[in-house]
Formats: sequence, structure tokens, C-alpha cells
Amino acid sequence: MPELPEVETVRRGLIPRLEGRRVTRLIQRRAYLRVALPDDFAARVEGRRIDALDRRAKYLLLRLDDGQTLVIHLGMSGRMTLVPSREANSRPFETHDHVVIEVDDGWQVRFNDARRFGLMLLLPTAAVETHKLFRHLGPEPLEAAFDATSFAARLAGKRTPIKSALLDQTVLVGVGNIYACEALHIAGISPRRIASTIRGERAARLLDAIKTVLERSILDGGSTLRDHAQPDGELGYFQTRFAVYDKEGQPCPGCDCGKGVRRFVQAGRSTFWCPSRQK
Ligand SMILES: [Zn+2]
Repeated sequence: MPELPEVETVRRGLIPRLEGRRVTRLIQRRAYLRVALPDDFAARVEGRRIDALDRRAKYLLLRLDDGQTLVIHLGMSGRMTLVPSREANSRPFETHDHVVIEVDDGWQVRFNDARRFGLMLLLPTAAVETHKLFRHLGPEPLEAAFDATSFAARLAGKRTPIKSALLDQTVLVGVGNIYACEALHIAGISPRRIASTIRGERAARLLDAIKTVLERSILDGGSTLRDHAQPDGELGYFQTRFAVYDKEGQPCPGCDCGKGVRRFVQAGRSTFWCPSRQK
């Protein structure tokens, strides 16, 4: 499943091809993804200029020049493929290419989603933040304004383990299972520690680790665990720089415990960690 760094990578890859471009054609090849695609989808998007590509949590937000926002979620398996103008008319569609957006220089973006958990919605831009998909969302971890004090304030009173709190999108967005494990390892904090005890220096250390793992992964072009494509028409490469995630039994990085990375199941998800290093 694409995580925040992958979505951010897709956004950055799409910007040079889409921003400021006018949509000349929208081809809709099925009626539904997770939910129905917008009514009169092509008619409402064709002719519109894409003024900006933003991201909120794992949603891409294409700001159109008529006050609409096209909201896109990649779901479990969604990917974007850029097709250069010279190939746009000759390259055959793949089975799971569901929506194609063509812009005024002839380039296409093809949205492919084999499992169809993806989502596309057209919303009035002014109503996005209050829409039911967005209104409960916590802050963006990479925003400079989100500091250790605000982080600790969001954890205050939470009696759940910190690992679960990090996955709670009302606390903060975009930290999935992989990044929660990695950040807790870097910060030396036990995944079992009660969230409300993370404050002061410990909160600063953990938030710093979260920002570090996310930014590092964005720089790598988005880590990927399965068939997630880079938006340059190529299949994304596989990221192997995780320290503990999916490394059960392997040597524990930066630690002389000699026991290796451990795994246990927490709230239905695998947690990877080192009990010696993380307290
Ligand atoms: Zn260790």
C-alpha cells in the first residue's frame, strides 16, 4: 500500500507534467473504484486548468481553475503512469487502467488500480477540509509548524500504546506501520510505552525520528513494498533501507544486544523492534 512518502513522490513526479496544464480529455474506463467515479466526470474536468497539486495525508488534491478539487487516493495498489505525447495514442491501455487524464501538450496520466480500493472525487475546493474524509485528520508530520509541543499535546491523555497512537490518523497523518516501527526504533522508544508518557524531550526525539524516516524515504523516491510505480512511466524500485521493518531475526542495527530484531503482533499489525534498545 502506498504510504505518505510514495504519495508525496507521485505528487512531485506529476507536478512538472500537470501543473498549469489544461485537461483536454478524460477517459473513464469503468464506473466504480472503491466508490462510484464522479457523475459527468469527463465533462466536469475537461477544459479545466490544473492550477496546483497538493497533498493532504495520503490524498492527492488536484486544484482545478473552476473552484473544484479532484481528490485522488491510490488505495492499496493504485499507481500513476505518465505516458509521453508521442506514445499517448499508440500505447495500449492495461487491463486496470481505469482513468486517463490527457493534458494540452498531449501527455497522459493513467491511473491503474488492480484492486480498485482507490478513490476519485470531485469536491468544491472550499469544502475539502470539512468533508468526512478530511475533517477528522490530524496534522501533517512534515509541516514545520507541527513541533514537539503540539505532538505531546495530541498524545496527552492517550492510554493506548504509542505504536497504536502513531497509526491513529486523528493524532497525526501519514505514519503507517512501517514508519511507526522505524521511527520508534530510531528514537529508542518501546512500541508498548503508553502514549501519554511521550512528552518533553522524548516527544521531541520521536517527532524528530518520524520526520527523519519520512523525509529520507521521500528523498529515496518513495519506498515500496509491492508493485507501486514511479510516475515516470517506470515501475518503482524496491526500497531496502529499513532498519527493523520486516527484519525479524536479523542483526539489530546500532545495537549490541546480540538478539536481533524481534516481532510481535500489536493491534493486529506486526511490530518490529529491539527490546534492549527501545524503552
Ligand atoms: Zn538490539
